[in-house]
Amino acid sequence: MRGKVNLDVAAIRRDFPILAQEVKGNRLVYLDNAASAQRPRAVLEALNRYYERDHANVHRGIHELSSRATRAYEGARETVARFIGAGDVGEVVFVRGTTEAINLVASAWGSYAIGEGDEILLTLLEHHSNIVPWQLLARRVGAQLKFVDIDDEGRLRMEQLEGLLTERTRLVAVTHVSNGLGTINPVGEIVTAARRVGARVLVDGAQAAPHLPLDVKALDCDFYAFSGHKMCGPTGIGVLWARRELLEEMDPYQGGGEMIELVELDRSTYKAPPHKYEAGTPNIADAVGLAAAIDYLTDIGLDRIGAHEHELVAYALERAASIPGFRAFGPGRGRAGVLSFELGDLHPHDVAQVLNDRGIAVRAGHHCNQPLMRRLGVTATTRASFYLYNDRDDVDALCDGLRAVIEFFS
Ligand code: PMP
Repeated sequence: MRGKVNLDVAAIRRDFPILAQEVKGNRLVYLDNAASAQRPRAVLEALNRYYERDHANVHRGIHELSSRATRAYEGARETVARFIGAGDVGEVVFVRGTTEAINLVASAWGSYAIGEGDEILLTLLEHHSNIVPWQLLARRVGAQLKFVDIDDEGRLRMEQLEGLLTERTRLVAVTHVSNGLGTINPVGEIVTAARRVGARVLVDGAQAAPHLPLDVKALDCDFYAFSGHKMCGPTGIGVLWARRELLEEMDPYQGGGEMIELVELDRSTYKAPPHKYEAGTPNIADAVGLAAAIDYLTDIGLDRIGAHEHELVAYALERAASIPGFRAFGPGRGRAGVLSFELGDLHPHDVAQVLNDRGIAVRAGHHCNQPLMRRLGVTATTRASFYLYNDRDDVDALCDGLRAVIEFFS
């Protein structure tokens, strides 16, 4: 631990080499963390060490390097299991990211658990990666998608969610934290409601795992998905956690080496989970990098990271309130470190462009949330998203930048 209450952001920033640079002659102000975060030196060094010293293929070799690579890869799985509160390391499947995790469930579980006339309940807060796989499945099997609306603050309308659950609902798939608005959804309550009709629950944790302490057992959901690159880990690695009984009854997602026990000409038997779902040479190095990122975040403390971001958003909302035309979307309080806003009638792309000229990285667009944008009555927003290495100077730079944007276009 690096202090009791406040994060030592200056020390944390020194851990992230990329943040030391200037962009367009200004200190880089990186506020696009919801899209992808940056990596501390500990992760870069873990990747290097692995490639310089330990790399070989896993699970197959008797030789020293193969056993080291296998130990590193399976050790990474144990680190993930501890981090998310999974009792059973066999419930942790490495995938490319949240998108692949959800597609895996839609394909391997959805193809037998969801049939004609069944219902899948989603929400208007979902990222496209928690909508499109279910559309593909629904079209394939003749199921129906339903969507829970939000209130004016961007919180799920829980009474509507309860009303939309029927005995035909097989799955509720919901984001833990909204990437568009920062809304933190009451996953525990949603699971309780879903259980009343016997529905399974998939949680998209892409924006939660990097920012909140996580305990999949306590959440009591059935599937939990997240990506490494949003939590200081490498790109191309992510996690699907699923209950063991589901991983046992589901068919494999892909076939190939690594996932089989015995291959005959017309059929095969498969390894036990999680290996049953990891066909082919896995992304060994990036799993090792993800474990290093988890160690780094855990050492600082997820609760402290969450509290720090919370404090930064509150400060940003307070400072931006006096900027003419600034309007934030999403809950006023109790939200994660995501701040979507509009600035009068300026187009978000123009806002982001002028901010970029000052070295400030924000995102402008629909954030893979087109149904949510439609619900908000906009085509796009500008989004600033915070992480552990952001500080009040970043917020001040953003607010000064927004005033400069207004000046530029006036
Ligand atoms: N869900 C949410 C809520 C997200 O924010 C994202 C990434 N923007 C995803 C899913 C998809 O993650 P990935 O692209 O890493 O698969």
